[in-house]
Amino acid sequence: MNVIERIRELFAQRGNSQYGHEAVSQLEHALQAAALAESDDASDALITASLLHDVGHLLHDLPDDAPDQGIDDRHEELAAAWLTDHFGEAVSEPARLHVAAKRYLCATSGSYRKHLSPPSQLSLQLQGGPMSSDEVAAFRAHPWSNDAVRLRIWDDQAKVSDLRTPDLEYFLKYVQRCLPAGDAPAPTTTDPAQ
Ligand code: FE
Repeated sequence: MNVIERIRELFAQRGNSQYGHEAVSQLEHALQAAALAESDDASDALITASLLHDVGHLLHDLPDDAPDQGIDDRHEELAAAWLTDHFGEAVSEPARLHVAAKRYLCATSGSYRKHLSPPSQLSLQLQGGPMSSDEVAAFRAHPWSNDAVRLRIWDDQAKVSDLRTPDLEYFLKYVQRCLPAGDAPAPTTTDPAQ
């Protein structure tokens, strides 16, 4: 099974599960995040990262309400490990850092923290709370921190119930473009000599 088929399968099997206690499913959340990235002129890689940033939630068997039980599912590390197997850093690193970006924004913007949804506030505590000043400096120095912050802001907005977005197939074209040549399906070219 190639990675595109695997993504279809993961969302078909698990995409209807609730996104924590938010008003959207995992699939709706992913599509809204990707749509926000696209409308903000993000690169193919960052749109792909936005679509797949929570793929970790589709890969583990912990319950949707794990944070209520005091469990940090470390979904960002699961996502990054999976994405690293298929894509370059421009896709995997913003996804890996999307939780760190929340901790960063909470440390550097009072209004950001105030507007976090209640489920995000709860998971923040499990994820280590706002960053210390040393952590803020280290995060800023990371080459993918800007993309991670952009992704994080779309992530926080991608929780609108019943919002219409393009479907998964539409966004898979961006995913396709991020695959190394050997993993992408062969292009359908016409030989002019024939
Ligand atoms: Fe998310």
